[in-house]
Amino acid sequence: MADFDAIVVGSGCAGPVAAYELAKAGRSVLVVERGNYCGAKNVSGGRLYTHALRAVFPDFAESAPLERRVTRERISLLAPDAATTLEASDALMSDERYESYTVLRARLDPWLAGQAEQAGAEYVNGIAVESLIMADGRVSGVRAGGDEISADVVLLCDGVNSLLTPQAVGATVPRPDQVAVGIKQVIELPAQVISDRALCAPGDGLAWLFVGAATGGRVGGGFLYTNVDSISIGLVATASDLAESPVPIYQLLEEFNQHPGVAAMIAGGKVVEHSGHLVAEAGYDAMPPLVGDGVLLAGESALMCINAGYTVRGMDLAIAAGQQAGRSAAAALEAGDTSAAGLGGYRTALEDSFVLQDMKTLRRFPHFMESTPRMFGQYPKLARDAMRSLFLVDGTPIRPMRKQLLPLAKQVGVWNLVKDLNKGMRAL
Ligand SMILES: Cc1cc2nc3c(=O)[nH]c(=O)nc-3n(C[C@H](O)[C@H](O)[C@H](O)COP(=O)(O)OP(=O)(O)OC[C@H]3O[C@@H](n4cnc5c(N)ncnc54)[C@H](O)[C@@H]3O)c2cc1C
Repeated sequence: MADFDAIVVGSGCAGPVAAYELAKAGRSVLVVERGNYCGAKNVSGGRLYTHALRAVFPDFAESAPLERRVTRERISLLAPDAATTLEASDALMSDERYESYTVLRARLDPWLAGQAEQAGAEYVNGIAVESLIMADGRVSGVRAGGDEISADVVLLCDGVNSLLTPQAVGATVPRPDQVAVGIKQVIELPAQVISDRALCAPGDGLAWLFVGAATGGRVGGGFLYTNVDSISIGLVATASDLAESPVPIYQLLEEFNQHPGVAAMIAGGKVVEHSGHLVAEAGYDAMPPLVGDGVLLAGESALMCINAGYTVRGMDLAIAAGQQAGRSAAAALEAGDTSAAGLGGYRTALEDSFVLQDMKTLRRFPHFMESTPRMFGQYPKLARDAMRSLFLVDGTPIRPMRKQLLPLAKQVGVWNLVKDLNKGMRAL
């Protein structure tokens, strides 16, 4: 008999939810998390769409450590000396169906782990799973901290840099063009100052994404999220492209923080946290198999993450996948069949849910970003020049708008504009 019904590797977003579902179903479950405490090693920019959390914990709002409800969205095209910004605020952003909140992982992850523990999951922190035990071609446990622990099913929720998925399901390690490097600072400021600067009511917040000079014209973008009394600010840049940048990413972040379009938001703040992490960018087509004999993958270990430029989503996908993984593993245990076939309901459940459907819908987006460098260099400058032609008045006679804008479009090439627009529409 195995030591546990199930072992969950990793307690970020997917892991604790999977463990919660298994424990709720009456299964013995051990969670192994390499961080000394949950959240110690985890990073996100910081906006969680809460629909997935609500599906697992309907009363989450009573105790989850949410920062601010996002009621204002901004997207800026950044030229080195200018920002062209689209802003949206909408009463529907406060509707519980669409709600999203800023979060800090150092607070969210322990809360998620607490839910799993309260349901009966056992936790071991501060130990990494080094490898999987294989018996008769199937996963039958883990090796961690010099011990071997067996289980009928192992759930790999160990995130983007999984060292275990190659052994489990033959996954290949993502290439540098399939992952991005994320770097982030948390900057403390008084809550009222943040509300005033973000033009938000107390408790409400701003999600702001940036394209262009944020990453020095490289493939990627910047983000800024307002928390209760801090601002999360950072960059996400494709690793292969960044490797060719003469400017290292930490310097790009320094320059981004000083950009006139950004600096006023964080002025006078104190940096209290620095972090860095990889982000999966490869999209649906690079996902590994989600099940093997005795094993399931949930969250970014299976590259479940969507970076669509205007939004980054990995946490809601990981939570929903963790829920389905836990439920499918519990059903397979009940049926006494944890082979790949017995666990196959997991893939079907994800195909029926937004997780795989959204990944599929946006499957072309990673290639669009990579193959459209004008998005990060020329277009932000084009937007700046167009705004200049509209808003800069110095007393010299103005020219008709078409005569001002057409030469700007010609700088990029009208045909290039049409092609990129068409490509973008097909990718989204
Ligand atoms: C800079 C940045 C900005 C982002 N912004 C957003 C955003 O705004 N919104 C959003 O939804 N998503 C965002 N994401 C993506 C999001 O953070 C991830 O998609 C999400 O955290 C994935 O959850 P997960 O549970 O799969 O993995 P993780 O949260 O990475 O958790 C994996 C866990 O496994 C543990 N682990 C790893 N290996 C082992 C091992 N061998 N043994 C034991 N434990 C192990 C790790 O310590 C970790 O706790 C961002 C990511 C980054 C880096």
